[in-house]
Amino acid sequence: MLPIIQKTQMLRTHTSLSGYQEKDGYFEPYQVSKDLKAGCTDCGSTLHITDIVTKTNCGLDFIMYILCECGSMNAIKSGKVHHDAAKFKTRPDFDINSKAAIAMYDTGLGEHKTNRFLADLNIPGISASSLAKREKEVSRSIKKVTDESLDRSLEEEKNASFSSTNEETENSPIKIKYDMGWQKRGSGRKYDSMSGVGVAIGNETGKVLEREIRSKNCRTCSYWEGKGTEAALHDCPRNWYGTSKGMEPDVGVSLIKKLEEKKCTVSTLIMDDDATTMSKIRQNIDHDITKWSDIKHVQNSLGKKLYVLPTSYRKSIRNDDIAHLMKCFTYAVHSNKNNKQQMQNDLSAIVPHVFNEHDHCNVRWCRYLKNPENYTPTIQLSNLDLNLS
Ligand SMILES: [Zn+2]
Ligand SMILES: [Zn+2]
Ligand SMILES: [Zn+2]
Repeated sequence: MLPIIQKTQMLRTHTSLSGYQEKDGYFEPYQVSKDLKAGCTDCGSTLHITDIVTKTNCGLDFIMYILCECGSMNAIKSGKVHHDAAKFKTRPDFDINSKAAIAMYDTGLGEHKTNRFLADLNIPGISASSLAKREKEVSRSIKKVTDESLDRSLEEEKNASFSSTNEETENSPIKIKYDMGWQKRGSGRKYDSMSGVGVAIGNETGKVLEREIRSKNCRTCSYWEGKGTEAALHDCPRNWYGTSKGMEPDVGVSLIKKLEEKKCTVSTLIMDDDATTMSKIRQNIDHDITKWSDIKHVQNSLGKKLYVLPTSYRKSIRNDDIAHLMKCFTYAVHSNKNNKQQMQNDLSAIVPHVFNEHDHCNVRWCRYLKNPENYTPTIQLSNLDLNLS
């Protein structure tokens, strides 16, 4: 019988060989076999992976130290490498680590979650600082690709606008949709998001033409402010010191200016009914801009008003009725896209129609006018006063 110590030692060796006790990292067999075949840097003889003496992890990849028959030690990388374009004469970086940073941008995973994900796969994690370096590296490329894509989309939008109007001018007129998204949602009256991103979308193509960020936050600045010292010169994301609500007008003006530097004129702005943004734009842009209301925003605000109706007037109106009224509204708008007068008539006929008065209705949509004998109203609002004003 073996002594107990010897038994545990055997068990340990066994699990470390077969049970993945050691984390292995990312491995590109084709790349590695090519390097092994290329052979020893001293004598040139082919290297064997089984002669590995030790290894060092470099994020997801690793470097294997392989002993040659001649006695010299060779470092073989487990994957492809590249040089950070912005850094001259530095050590090469593993491709996979930069790809991990791209994946983090793509999926929105942070450093902590990325490392937990890797740990579950039994792959060694990447330190926060090297991930941050790789993130910086890829963000430069992402920005470059984004800018090129924005320029391309703007050209497409200009061409599409030209073919829809056929007006040839030096600065092609375009219609844009503008809105701002917040890191934290505003709840009607309260806007306290630390950052927001404003986007201009082309009306003809539906593609993003320009974007801008306002941020009240910078980790470096906050850290040094906490220590009561001014931070040294750094790549600072903080570019807004006013209120969060104030970001939207400012970004609107700046987006239009940026677009107009690229040989176009923003002739129409489609946005929510935010008077502050529109007035700031009119103050700062030296030509007329027509404002169109964004149909989605109008629908939302109509919905909100209908839902508070029962509380304001102490009358009962069912959710189904509200849904029906919204449907009528959308139909009246969409079915009369190029007919302003008809849109106006249909919109003002909706309310009398649901009170069973059909003088202003149109036979296109009113089932009473089509067949008064068999008409049963979808909803009938008799419990609300018509003169709500
Ligand atoms: Zn050798
Ligand atoms: Zn800063
Ligand atoms: Zn009717």
